[in-house]
Amino acid sequence: MRSTVIDGMNTVKLADPMNKYEVLERYFGYRSFRRGQEEVVDSLLSGRDALAIMPTGAGKSLCYQVPALMLDGVTLVVSPLISLMKDQVNALTAQGVRAAYLNSSLNDAQFDKALHNMANGIYKIVYVAPERLKSSRFIRAAKSIRIPLVAVDEAHCVSQWGQDFRPSYLNIAEFIAELPERPTIGAFTATATAEVKQDIVRILGLHDPLQVTTGFDRPNLFFSVLRPSSKPQTLEKLVKERNGKTGIIYCSTRKRVEEVCSSLSAKGYSATRYHAGLSDEERRKNQDDFVYDRKKIMIATNAFGMGIDKSDVRYVIHYNMPKNLESYYQEAGRAGRDGEDSDCILMFGQQDIETARFFIDNTEPNPELSDEQNDAFKKKEEERLSFIIAYCKTKGCLRAYMLRYFGDATDDHCEKCSNCLTNFKTVNVTVDAQKILSCIVRTGQRFGAQTIADVLRGKESQWVKSFRLTEQSTFALLKGVRQKKIKSLIDELEAQGYIVYVGVGKPILKVTDAGWLVLKGKAQVQAREALTIQTTVKTAPVSENDTELFEALRELRAKIAQKRGVPAFVIFSDSALRDMCLKMPTTNEEFLTVNGVGETKLKLYGKLFTDEILAYKNPSLYAALHDTPNDKHTKNVSHYTIPFDRWTAEETADLIAEYNGGKSIKEIAWGHNRTQRAIRFALDKLRDKGLIY
Ligand code: ADP
Ligand code: MG
Repeated sequence: MRSTVIDGMNTVKLADPMNKYEVLERYFGYRSFRRGQEEVVDSLLSGRDALAIMPTGAGKSLCYQVPALMLDGVTLVVSPLISLMKDQVNALTAQGVRAAYLNSSLNDAQFDKALHNMANGIYKIVYVAPERLKSSRFIRAAKSIRIPLVAVDEAHCVSQWGQDFRPSYLNIAEFIAELPERPTIGAFTATATAEVKQDIVRILGLHDPLQVTTGFDRPNLFFSVLRPSSKPQTLEKLVKERNGKTGIIYCSTRKRVEEVCSSLSAKGYSATRYHAGLSDEERRKNQDDFVYDRKKIMIATNAFGMGIDKSDVRYVIHYNMPKNLESYYQEAGRAGRDGEDSDCILMFGQQDIETARFFIDNTEPNPELSDEQNDAFKKKEEERLSFIIAYCKTKGCLRAYMLRYFGDATDDHCEKCSNCLTNFKTVNVTVDAQKILSCIVRTGQRFGAQTIADVLRGKESQWVKSFRLTEQSTFALLKGVRQKKIKSLIDELEAQGYIVYVGVGKPILKVTDAGWLVLKGKAQVQAREALTIQTTVKTAPVSENDTELFEALRELRAKIAQKRGVPAFVIFSDSALRDMCLKMPTTNEEFLTVNGVGETKLKLYGKLFTDEILAYKNPSLYAALHDTPNDKHTKNVSHYTIPFDRWTAEETADLIAEYNGGKSIKEIAWGHNRTQRAIRFALDKLRDKGLIY
C-alpha cells in the first residue's frame, strides 16, 4: 500500500498503512487467520524467510498475499501451473487486488504489456512461471522495480525426491541472486518429507527460515473405504446421492476413465473426463467445463488436479486404489478446500493391488538417477504400496491411520470416517477360519480368493468343475454364506497373517505357519465384524438452514460468474453462501460480517445478494421477482451507475473489474467503445465514490 505521496518537497501523509487484520478483512473478508497463517505473515513482514508446510486447503496463498498487500513494491509468486495462476489472479482481481500472471499462455505483445505494467507499479502481485525467470526481458524488468518478497508455491517441486520434480524450479535461486536487493523468500508446500524439506531450504537458499507445520488433518473431510461387489453399481449409487454436487472421480487407467465417463453420461449425469490420451485442446476444454461448473463431475486419471484450485469440490471418489497414501491424500484432499464438509471415498478391490504392482514394475527408471537410486526408489514404492493396502483393509480409524503415516500425533477415533461410524463387534471366527484354511490346503494352495470362495459356497461353475473341485471334501462347506462375507473373512485372515498372497497377475493363497496352528486347533481367530455395514457416507445436508435460499443464492452466483467469465467460487465460496443463509444480511453493514465478504465484493455484489435475501424474507416480493420473465440478475450486476454518458450498472461493474484487473485505459476504452477521456472521467467518479482505489 502506498501510504505517502512525494510531492515536490513535501511528504503528504495520505492514510495510515493498513495492518494485517485490516488487509485480511478488507480484501479477503475474513475476520481471523487460520492456524499457522499469522506466524508466516509476521515472519515475511519482518523480513525473515519462511517455510510453510500446510495441507491442501489450509490457506497457504493468504500467507503471502497479505504481506504482498502491505509491503512496498511487487511480490513475485513462482507457481508451476498455468491454470492455477489464472484462477488465482482471477480470484485476486475479484477481491480488488491488482494482480497479473506471466507465463507461456501470453503472446509476445501481452507479455510485454504485462512487464510494462509491472515496471510501472500497476500490480501488487505477479505470478510467474519458473521458466520465465530465465527470460532476459523479465530479468531486466524485475531489476528495475522493488521486489520485497518472492513466494515459491508448491516448493517441493525443487526436489528430486518429491513426486513432482520440476527442473525449472532450479532457476529460482539464480534469478534471486541477480536482483539488486535480496527479497524475503517464502516457500510453501503441502507435502514434505525430511529430505524434501532439506532440499527446499538448500536449493532455494533460504536464510534461517521460520518453519511452520500445521499438521495434516483436514477436519471437514469424511473418509471412507468401500469394498463393493460391483463397483459400477456402487459408484452410480454414490453419484446419485450427490446429484448436483461437484465431484471428482479418479480411475487408475485411461480406459477406465472412458468407461466410467460414458456410462455416467449415458445415464444423464453432467460428466466430463481428463487423461493424458486426450489432445491438449480437449483437456483444456474439459477442465474449464469443470472449473466453470458447466460440468459437475470430472472423471480423470491422476494427471488431473494439480493446478486446480476449485474450492467447492464436495466429493472425491477413487474408483481404484492409488499407488500410495501420499497420492491418495493429495487427490482426496482436493475435496472441500473451502472448509465445508466433503466426502473422500475409496473403492477398493483385490484387482487394484495387481494394477498398482503393475505400475510399479513398469515404471521407466529415471535417467537422472543412478541404478542404485532407481532400485531404492522402486523398493520405496513397494513399501508405500503396502501401507495403502493396509489402509484399505484396516478396521481402525481411517483418519488416525493416515495421520500417523504422515507423522502427526492423533486420537484413535475421529468419529468421522466410515470405520469409526460402523459398529463392529469382536467375534470368534475360528471355525469358519479353519474351513477356509482347510479348503486352501485341500485344493493344493494353487488358487486365489475367488475360487476358494466359490468352492466353499458350493458353486458349480465351469472353472470349478474343470479342476474337479466339486469332488473336494471342503466343497460347499460354507453353503449359504454370502460371498462377500467369505471374502472379508479371507481378508481378515490375510491381515492377521494366517494366509498370504503369492505371485502377481492372479495371486494364489498360501497358508502361513500361524495359519497351520489355527488348522491344528492350537490358535483361535478373533475378527471385528461390522454390525451395520455402512455403504454410504453421511454428511451434513447441503444446507442446514434454508436450502431454498441457498439454492437461490447459488443461482445468483452462477449467473454473475457466467457473465464475468470466471468460476463461481471466485465470486463467493459455498461457505460464504452458507454464512449468508445463516446471517441473512439485508444491509451493507450486515453483509460485511459474512465470512469471505471484503469491501470490493460488498461494492460489486452486496446489493444483489441482500436484495435476494430481502425478497426471500418477504415471500410475495420474492415470488414477484422470480416470476419476472426478464430476470433482474442479468440486468444489473452493481447498483452503482456512473452519472454521466449513460453508463449502465452492468457496464460500471465491468469497468471496475477491468480496472482492478490491471487493464490499460486504452484497452478499456476500446472494449467499451468509448473514448479514453470518458474512461478517465468515469474512473475519477468511481474513485470519488470509493469504489476503486
Ligand atoms: P492451499 O494453497 O493451502 O491449498 P488456498 O490458499 O487455496 O489453500 O486456500 C483454500 C481456501 O481457504 C480458499 O478458499 C481460501 O479463501 C480459504 N481461506 C484461506 N484463509 C482463510 C481464513 N483465514 N479464513 C477463512 N477462509 C480462508
Ligand atoms: Mg495453493
